Amino acid sequence: MSDEPAVPHITDVYVRLECDLLVIGDSILTDRHHASNGNYDADDPQNQIGGIIPAFPLSGWLRHGMERVVQQHDGTACHPGEASANFKKAAVYERDLDDGYHEKGACVDDANADDGCVIFDLFGGFEGIPGKLMRRPIKFSPVRSSVDYTRGQAEGHFRRLNQNIVSRNDEDNREPLRNAELDAVANLDGCWHLSFRETKSEFTGLLCEGLDYLDAHNTNFMHQLGGARNFGAGIVDTHLVNPLYDDHELKRVFDRGKATTNAMDEKDDQWKVEYRPAFEEALAARLENQ
Ligand SMILES: [Zn+2]
Repeated sequence: MSDEPAVPHITDVYVRLECDLLVIGDSILTDRHHASNGNYDADDPQNQIGGIIPAFPLSGWLRHGMERVVQQHDGTACHPGEASANFKKAAVYERDLDDGYHEKGACVDDANADDGCVIFDLFGGFEGIPGKLMRRPIKFSPVRSSVDYTRGQAEGHFRRLNQNIVSRNDEDNREPLRNAELDAVANLDGCWHLSFRETKSEFTGLLCEGLDYLDAHNTNFMHQLGGARNFGAGIVDTHLVNPLYDDHELKRVFDRGKATTNAMDEKDDQWKVEYRPAFEEALAARLENQ
């Protein structure tokens, strides 16, 4: 980019996430073993359990939103699956390739070069090539005062949900046929810390637009986050927290007792009018050249 450096180099950003119910299969890591002391009761609301939401589902969710933005610009995106993988559903993979995707890595001639598509650039690919977007897990806690938003943490309430499938015959008296347990986080509100290993204006532009897309389509089955989507889980309100905020201002975003300051309002205007359009122009320029 030969742009004047009118826009700041942004390396660390925070993504606001609000979700009433999030179900991530059985991969939420909790600290209940420390809290339980052998008599932990998963259903006791007194249990103040914190935990970690792994980055894998978050990353897939974000990537899917970004892929859509690339496609809206008439570009194609790296498919997340390796071309050489032995897909169970090869025909479905082929159909994806006709529908806005190219084979993973097909956009780079030399696997070490960083001239692939912008999705490859951000998320990396085969042969251990790292993406330039580092995605962290989110640590959550039910106690808001112990949540450090500047470290990409969230308030969230862990519960283990039980699901019973019962017999439909009257004489069986709802005899359970199957019981499933789901790990869920309720009332998640916090931020996800992302870091760019290398800063490019189009990365920030794509992040903004990808999050807007996900927010606007958050009840679309394809763009809910995690599992139990038919039951309303994974509907995420999201946006990029203004990267111009300092740590103090970032914390203030989550303080329900305090409004924004004048300085924050000014930064919001500056972001909206000056910076964000520049990042989005950079994205449009890059996608045009692909
Ligand atoms: Zn690609």
